[in-house]
Amino acid sequence: MRRYSVFAIAREGFRQHSGWDRAWPSPLPKSRYDVVVVGAGGHGLATAYYLGRNFGIRNVAVIEKGWLGGGNTGRNTTIIRSNYLQDPSAAIYEKSRSLYETLSQDLNYNVMFSPRGVMMLAQTQHEVRGYKRTAEANALQGVETEYISAQRVKELCPIIHIDGPRYPVLGALWQARGGTARHDAVAWGYARACADMGMDIIEQCEVKGVTQANGVVTGVQTSKGDIACGKLAIVVAGHSSVLAEMAGFRLPIESMPLQALVSEPIKPCMDVVVMANTVHGYMSQSDKGEMVIGGGTDGYNAYNQRGSFHHVEETVRALVETFPIISRLKMLRQWGGIVDMTGDRSPILSKTPLGNCFVNCGWGTGGFKAIPGSGWAMAELVARGEPGPLAADFGLNRFREGRFIDESVAAGVAH
Ligand SMILES: Cc1cc2nc3c(=O)[nH]c(=O)nc-3n(C[C@H](O)[C@H](O)[C@H](O)COP(=O)(O)OP(=O)(O)OC[C@H]3O[C@@H](n4cnc5c(N)ncnc54)[C@H](O)[C@@H]3O)c2cc1C
Repeated sequence: MRRYSVFAIAREGFRQHSGWDRAWPSPLPKSRYDVVVVGAGGHGLATAYYLGRNFGIRNVAVIEKGWLGGGNTGRNTTIIRSNYLQDPSAAIYEKSRSLYETLSQDLNYNVMFSPRGVMMLAQTQHEVRGYKRTAEANALQGVETEYISAQRVKELCPIIHIDGPRYPVLGALWQARGGTARHDAVAWGYARACADMGMDIIEQCEVKGVTQANGVVTGVQTSKGDIACGKLAIVVAGHSSVLAEMAGFRLPIESMPLQALVSEPIKPCMDVVVMANTVHGYMSQSDKGEMVIGGGTDGYNAYNQRGSFHHVEETVRALVETFPIISRLKMLRQWGGIVDMTGDRSPILSKTPLGNCFVNCGWGTGGFKAIPGSGWAMAELVARGEPGPLAADFGLNRFREGRFIDESVAAGVAH
């Protein structure tokens, strides 16, 4: 596939853009692959990409029941940061954040990574203590983050009302190299790079069953026919329990709607990402000028990609309190995704009871930021059959053995 470059754009400009290759073709499935990845979200595509790039495994199919990136990957609010509390989390999220720094160059695709800085407001004494503790832990883990004062919050984001009526801003946890990226572009960039390595990305193809013999997976039954495989990677976020049931095991996952909304576009007024976890809302401004807003998960399990209305109301109320200048802003769109929540709010990257079947899920409300690091670690797990250092603590056995990686503070509403 031809590389994108300034010269390519100039050349195509002279010939009515007639010479571009398709970013990824739409092949029919082959009868067998070395690895089948179910789910063409960011994590599935990144898994395939690093299987090819780091391990030379290229006879790979990524199978998607809808359209590529149409799950949570294309529905999230794109916050990227790595200041989690526990060591295993800090390691995988920081690996991911650092991969984002050069992802556009690696993929030869502009993912619009914007390290504009992410702040999590401390609005109670409890949060002040929690965030100071996280900053200390991050210092030991080699993750750059700092606890900043309310005055510094105001300097970095002048539109915040720091003397709010209910919860004045007392300070914030600030990660200057956190930020955002364009979510679709991340999926598209990985897809194009996978196709370039000869992998098949098969959209509109639902996996309906998992075929097995003697304790190993032999293939999958899909809406486009049966496909045999040497190894199976299940990377389907909110539908992980459904796939696990097809394969005959259970996962400690609950699937819940999480929603977001965007406003009409306005002039640039905020160049950082702000999360206000106590009042429950967060906001950033997209390159188009829309205010991108997110709230919490619904209080019940469901598979509808909408989210309930009262959350919109609560979230907007919380943000108007924090940013009074948005009080007359019109909202344009609202949508939801199905997030896969574990009890300790940490992901699962694991072997399963089936010898050649691996699962990657449980990223819940915060897995967009983890896409490159998760793909890197999952590729290692699939290729070697054993987890590497990044995935070692995230196995399914932690739930049986009581070795939880408790990130409920970092990942409650905070993405
Ligand atoms: C509203 C919202 C806001 C969020 N905000 C943030 C944020 O700011 N920062 C952050 O880091 N994270 C955020 N997240 C979380 C993040 O989006 C997810 O953790 C991440 O995108 C999960 O990626 P994935 O590739 O695992 O899943 P997905 O992108 O959901 O991909 C899974 C794919 O599997 C496919 N699939 C399912 N079943 C089958 C089947 N039977 N056969 C074939 N294919 C199947 C689905 O169609 C889907 O495309 C947010 C999520 C939501 C919903």
